[in-house]
Amino acid sequence: MIKFLDLYKINKRFEDEINEVINRTIRSGWYLLGKEVSSFEKEYAEYINVEHCIGVANGLDALRLVLKAYIELGRLKEGDEIIAPANTYIASILSISDNRLVPVLVEPDLMTYNIDPFRIEEKISHRTKGIMIVHLYGQNAMHPEIKRITEKYNLILIEDNAQAQGCRYNERPTGSIGDGSGNSFYPGKNLGAMGDAGAVTTDNNELAEVIRGLANYGSTRKYINDFKGLNSRLDEIQAAVLRVKLKRLDSDNQRRREIAQFYLDNIKHPEIILPTSMTFVECRLDHVWHLFVIRSKNRDKLKNYLEIIGIQTLIHYPVPPHKQQAYREMNGYRLPITELIHDEVLSLPISPVLEQSEIEQVVEAINSYQK
Ligand SMILES: *Cc1c(COP(=O)(O)O)cnc(C)c1O
Repeated sequence: MIKFLDLYKINKRFEDEINEVINRTIRSGWYLLGKEVSSFEKEYAEYINVEHCIGVANGLDALRLVLKAYIELGRLKEGDEIIAPANTYIASILSISDNRLVPVLVEPDLMTYNIDPFRIEEKISHRTKGIMIVHLYGQNAMHPEIKRITEKYNLILIEDNAQAQGCRYNERPTGSIGDGSGNSFYPGKNLGAMGDAGAVTTDNNELAEVIRGLANYGSTRKYINDFKGLNSRLDEIQAAVLRVKLKRLDSDNQRRREIAQFYLDNIKHPEIILPTSMTFVECRLDHVWHLFVIRSKNRDKLKNYLEIIGIQTLIHYPVPPHKQQAYREMNGYRLPITELIHDEVLSLPISPVLEQSEIEQVVEAINSYQK
């Protein structure tokens, strides 16, 4: 059986080193807000090329905290609108509504599956205060048009970088392009911890300070509380594991690119639409292939066929946020491109530990699929 994602195999490559750093952390007797976290924050900030990295409990919290900090700073207030892609994992949208801000959904570009830069401006109202872009499936979502709009309307730009650690836009790492970014180290992400973990990255000193306080009960000095905060901290053990894995992130992403290129070059089927790693006129769209997502009109049939052969696939995602019971108020929205994508997408196995023979098996199975 070819697993969609073999997390044990991924982590087994680091087993000795991980055991060592976990033991070191256990023996230190210090489990929160210590040396591992501050070292990881420094190393990840350097990797993303930003001034500040604040380790937090998970990726959703990272996004929630960026928005919450802007509320504390008076840049956002309840009822303000944040433009966001309709085609995303629900966590992006939850971070907005959790802060009593209003998500305004924009359709994706069918070529990239990311927010369509040319459909943003029509959604701007006098209440629009920010744009959240999501580098979905590992592909950069930033675009010159988004820069133009944020400047013209003086909007905050937030990046959901949960799926794109190591991706670049015009030489700059994603996670460093916007005013504040949410990063997730959920175990299955390109840089994955062994449990929940996340981080905010930003160049803004003031924002970083507020977020650090908010994530620690709203306290910037012990027992002095400036804000009504949360408890959302990265722990020492997860930080120690992430420091080991960060060193291999670029080579892992390189392997993902090779696998993606092999799929792109060799999968040939009239029913199947391959992802595009296309070039816009103005900018190259980098991709770190968190997911390799194909489309088929008979997606469920194809999924079953592959399952029977022994190839596990997943759907990212079967139900868009606006069709969820949790967002009843949006159930009536007409977002046909988003809905089409959710009906047709299928994610093939991709990970740095897939064997060449497994990749070949996936290609062969798909090419001999009879609809
Ligand atoms: C994984 C993910 C999140 C949330 O990250 P967690 O660490 O699971 O909270 C947010 N947005 C996107 C696009 C994601 O893929």
